[in-house]
Amino acid sequence: MIDRIVDAALPPEEPQEVELEVTLRPQDFASYIGQERLKQNLKLAITAAQKRGEPIDHVLLYGPPGLGKTTMASVIAHEMGAQIRITSGPAIERAGDLASLLTNLQDGDILFIDEIHRLNRNVEEVLYSAMEDFKLDIMLGKGPSARSLRLDLPKFTIIGATTRAGALAGPLRDRFGHIHRLEFYTPDEVQQIILRAAGILDVKIDAPAAQALATRARLTPRIANRLLKRVRDYADVNGDGIIDTSISTQALQLLEIDELGLDPADRLLLLAIIDNYGGGPVGVETLAALTAEERQTIEDFIEPYLLQIGLLERTPRGRKVTAKTYRHLGRTPAADAPQSALL
Ligand code: ADP
Repeated sequence: MIDRIVDAALPPEEPQEVELEVTLRPQDFASYIGQERLKQNLKLAITAAQKRGEPIDHVLLYGPPGLGKTTMASVIAHEMGAQIRITSGPAIERAGDLASLLTNLQDGDILFIDEIHRLNRNVEEVLYSAMEDFKLDIMLGKGPSARSLRLDLPKFTIIGATTRAGALAGPLRDRFGHIHRLEFYTPDEVQQIILRAAGILDVKIDAPAAQALATRARLTPRIANRLLKRVRDYADVNGDGIIDTSISTQALQLLEIDELGLDPADRLLLLAIIDNYGGGPVGVETLAALTAEERQTIEDFIEPYLLQIGLLERTPRGRKVTAKTYRHLGRTPAADAPQSALL
């Protein structure tokens, strides 16, 4: 897979980028921009839990990468005055790893499990009873002399995050009291996020340039922050460090990101549908073969934004492009193209 600057799933590769994410992470509800419905629901749940003097019920956050799931987990911890430990599905390899994480928690602690859909089955089963009645069942010894032991656990909260809620086993899903989807941000919210980040990083950017960046950030905070950083580098080298529309346009051209935030990989995918399948519908497996991306990469990372902005449609027979896609890519639909392309 090609490295894409607009890939929200791309893990921060350099230590400075990890540091940047931590520096820019909002600490509380007040500085967490957008996701109003989610914030309202969580505020209510937190107030109720605090009134009862109990930890908040387990929370599952799902949605495309970079929308603020990890950030929201730390905001919840901050608002609850709780400690948070951060781990991920693939990092908990054996049931014993989970047991040691859980037994080291204290009452009220939050355990954040990123990519929770990637937990393996054995670990998942231990997690069920831990989440349900704060008990840990462990097996001591092997063979005929083996016996099981039940340990009491502190009253903790699991916050799980996943890009694919559908991939979560039913029994695990059922153990979350709060299940919330994170939505894409509006361009206005992304602009606010960019201006907030610019303020923290002491980057000088004017409002029109912030707006231009916002429309290209795929409605995703992680990408907004990453673009801001790249454009700042460009402004430092090719200008006087101030980001205006002319500097941001030049920088984005260099990065091959167009006005809708599409990069060459998105255009390749959309053009593959237009050029090879007359606009679609075409199955996702075929698209994966055509673009040399994995099916999961297309479904989890590339497609959600294209669906959101109406450049792609999902139908029972596969994916198809829309009239907007043809317009955006400067193509003309063939006379026998699907109705949706001719509108
Ligand atoms: P996810 O866990 O969904 O992949 P993160 O929580 O790691 O996403 O968010 C990525 C970055 O985007 C964070 O470092 C933070 O700086 C920024 N961010 C996310 N949500 C918001 C928000 N609502 N307001 C401001 N910045 C945000």
